[in-house]
Amino acid sequence: MDIGEYLRQEVMPTPFCKGCGHGILMHAILVAIDELGIDFGNMLFVSGIGCAAWIPSPHFAADTLHTTHGRPIAFATGAKLFNPELDVVVISGDGDLVSIGGNHLIHAVRRDLDVTVIMANNRVYGMTGGQLASTTPHDRITATTPGGNPERDFDTCRLVLACGAGYAARYSVAEPVNLRRVIKNALQHKGFSFVEAMTICPTQYGRMNKMPVPSQMIEELKSLCISGTRAQVMAGDAPEGKVYVGEFI
Ligand code: SF4
Repeated sequence: MDIGEYLRQEVMPTPFCKGCGHGILMHAILVAIDELGIDFGNMLFVSGIGCAAWIPSPHFAADTLHTTHGRPIAFATGAKLFNPELDVVVISGDGDLVSIGGNHLIHAVRRDLDVTVIMANNRVYGMTGGQLASTTPHDRITATTPGGNPERDFDTCRLVLACGAGYAARYSVAEPVNLRRVIKNALQHKGFSFVEAMTICPTQYGRMNKMPVPSQMIEELKSLCISGTRAQVMAGDAPEGKVYVGEFI
């Protein structure tokens, strides 16, 4: 495949910092769509605000909606209700989807809205300066928690499963083949589907947590991710500092 065919060349390159993981996720999404043979012209990509929101908009050569902070799922709901034939995919970050837009997320799951939500989780508010997010792990340094995060973080897969999601999966950009596989499965799922792509932000999260080099962050992702089942995710029993990855159906 020629990935360039899916991108608006006139707006390239992307605005991502060097070493950002969002490029890996962008590639995984586009290859998944190509391999499934989905009609790109019948797809609508909706994003909110933040670095991950720039993955589809303005780069994808399809219909895109770049909306307000925390509200992409609300816009996606309206679009899907208006035209149920559209393949609607939300691509946004953890701050946008869980922290600011968390209420929209849980109710979209409850309604079993037929959309796919792909969440890039860099564990911080990257674009706005590296502030604490609800996905920032305990003890980690952010611009607003220089002494370390005193709170615990959301396990977003556990959250959506508890709300009744029929499909949830999580892999990191350090495992792009698995990430692509679960994106394909999510896109084929009828009803609400959720993919959490753990990714890296060397500029904010990495710099503040002594991992300024992208390869250091990739190694950290590899070390913290362990295979888990839906039951293990729901039990919340991952060993200290580890995160379960897999397909939780
Ligand atoms: Fe990527 Fe972080 Fe730069 Fe945003 S601030 S583009 S998440 S590296």
